[in-house]
Amino acid sequence: MRTWEQNIRKVVPYTPGEQPNQPDMVKLNTNENPYPPSPMVEQAMKELEPDTMRLYPDPTAGELVNAIADYYNVKASQVFVGVGSDDVIAMAFLTYFNSEKPILFPDITYSFYDVWADTFRIPYKTIPLKDDFSIDPEDYKVENGGIIFPNPNAPTGEVMTLDAIEEIIQANPDVIVMVDEAYVDFGTESALPLIEKYDNLLVVQTFSKSRSMAGMRIGYCFGNEKLISFLSDVKYSFNSYTMNRPSIKMGVAAVKDDAYFQKTRQQIIETREWAKEELKKLGFAFGDSKSNFIFARHESAAAADIFAKLREKHIYVRYFNKPRIDNYLRITIGTKEEMEKLFAALREILSKNR
Ligand code: PMP
Repeated sequence: MRTWEQNIRKVVPYTPGEQPNQPDMVKLNTNENPYPPSPMVEQAMKELEPDTMRLYPDPTAGELVNAIADYYNVKASQVFVGVGSDDVIAMAFLTYFNSEKPILFPDITYSFYDVWADTFRIPYKTIPLKDDFSIDPEDYKVENGGIIFPNPNAPTGEVMTLDAIEEIIQANPDVIVMVDEAYVDFGTESALPLIEKYDNLLVVQTFSKSRSMAGMRIGYCFGNEKLISFLSDVKYSFNSYTMNRPSIKMGVAAVKDDAYFQKTRQQIIETREWAKEELKKLGFAFGDSKSNFIFARHESAAAADIFAKLREKHIYVRYFNKPRIDNYLRITIGTKEEMEKLFAALREILSKNR
């Protein structure tokens, strides 16, 4: 090994879902929204002035922060925006998780948490989900340096009640508790109102799923003013201009079109509930997902096998070859037409399997 190599920060990176690009593909592997962003976003894109790109953007992303604060009825000083919720959560890890004690998160959850912890040298301990994939608040009443979990959880889609979340926050007044609400808009109650009651709570959301803007990279979070100011200080110590001009303008347009937001998220909820019926008929079992995906296993066929056969047909779902979940498929909810194609392929694959 070369001498300089000894002092390199070595990390095992997060593996994102693949981004294939075939004209005939059905892409249900990275929980993207099958509908385009609001027409107001398209309009905002057309109105972008190339000349303004000479200039740095507003480092506070004030327009976007204000639009989010107005929509959710909180103060602008309680809002922070970043380059997708990945950026927001990474900054939050760096800001709030500086204890010698381990931070806690579930053993089955968003697989970026352990990567950030490793990257920033934050000690962590994973807490096993119950056999039914639920989170038990009792398990989070141990000494720790901070807590994060998604609600609904990913990739399981399981939902926690606000009472259970509040129990965890109450039991941990000395550390920051982060609730990652990437999928909250598909039918889960948000913990946002609790930020008025608990100064150690951070609620993280994103434009990537329910607002159809994964490609723009916009995430945000809510918290007590003091909490947000510490987060901003770290951001300004890292990169002042995280939000570029197009994402600020287009993000504002997306937030303003509430009618479109309500319509498309409702469509996904309806398609999900219908997909649950169809998957049941095909012999799949799954929990009561309230997100834009279903985490399912088949009664007889192996998930790895179904995954590979779907892939051959250019139908992409997500498979995690990891303990406890290696017989599950995470299927993103697409349009009804896309789901019909998936079910037709599954029917064919499963009939050959018998
Ligand atoms: N949290 C969870 C639970 C997720 O599944 C994702 C999507 N991969 C994210 C956060 C990050 O999403 P984004 O950076 O696109 O906002």
